[in-house]
Amino acid sequence: MSPAQPLQHVRVLVAHRDASARASVRALLEDVGAEVLESDERHDAAERVRAERPQVVLLDRELDGGSARGGGLVRDVAGDPELLGVAVILLHPGADVAAVCAALADGAVDVWTTDGAAPELIARVRLAYRSRQLLDLALRRFSDLEDLAYGDELTELPNRRGASRQIDVLISRARRHGHQLALLLVDADRFKAINDEHGHAVGDVVLRELAARLRERVRREDVVGRWGGEEFVVALPETTPDGAVAVAEALRLGVSGTPIEAGGAQLRVTISIGVTAWTGEELDDLVARADHALYAAKAAGRDRVVLKRAVKAA
Ligand code: GH3
Ligand code: MG
Ligand code: MG
Repeated sequence: MSPAQPLQHVRVLVAHRDASARASVRALLEDVGAEVLESDERHDAAERVRAERPQVVLLDRELDGGSARGGGLVRDVAGDPELLGVAVILLHPGADVAAVCAALADGAVDVWTTDGAAPELIARVRLAYRSRQLLDLALRRFSDLEDLAYGDELTELPNRRGASRQIDVLISRARRHGHQLALLLVDADRFKAINDEHGHAVGDVVLRELAARLRERVRREDVVGRWGGEEFVVALPETTPDGAVAVAEALRLGVSGTPIEAGGAQLRVTISIGVTAWTGEELDDLVARADHALYAAKAAGRDRVVLKRAVKAA
């Protein structure tokens, strides 16, 4: 970046009731490359922040709309997680220490106490912009890492870790509200043969299609994850054991009923499903029981659903 253009690619909203104040700030900032938006009214400024996402807002204290303590628009922006990338600098000529502290406490990143636009304001805007940019970068990196840690690249479902985390939340909720919860373990039948006959790449296509068919046949609030290999987990909140068996049957038919097109072939794929209902235990024990049910479904000939109920303590 050229030193003469320290605000290149920076979008700044100048929110001030006074037209000549806006004009002088605009001239100062545009001279160093900023893209300047203007607003002369609080409601309009709030809307423009949302719609146009300036990285920095220079906000006249009088337009802020807050009380004597300040904190109208500043607080709204700072308190909105969607607007984390927006830095607000409050323009408050002659502000005393208490006013500056109050504005910073409300979430302003800086307070400009000089009357009018001076070159130092450029450096302040740049600093505010950089701080948000770094925050934004850190959040994006974090979200990429979360995707890697909790997601499955092939199927785009949560992986075992991700699904476990989500199902733990469902378990806590069921415990708190006394709701029911059902768990399904789904395993593709004789999947090794698909790989052996058609190749691993075709196996991958089949896994992706299985994931999509499971996901699209359950509710939004249900969790579907890749438990590992050719095995999936499905958790159904507020669902009775009979309801869960009905869902499992629908999933089974959703797979066996329509061949999967992969590698130029129409593959008939079936799944076996073990179903169980939550009775207050932790996830590991719940999964272990669903796994027993799945094993029974395999042993009984595959392409079927088996429900295993918890043995009630005497
Ligand atoms: P069963 O009916 O008893 O479940 O038989 P199966 O052949 O499905 O079970 P097995 O555990 O013997 O084989 C699972 C196969 O799934 C073996 C493994 O190579 C394959 N597999 C696991 N993960 C992937 C994957 O990501 N892509 C592909 N293409 N295959 C995978
Ligand atoms: Mg299998
Ligand atoms: Mg398996």
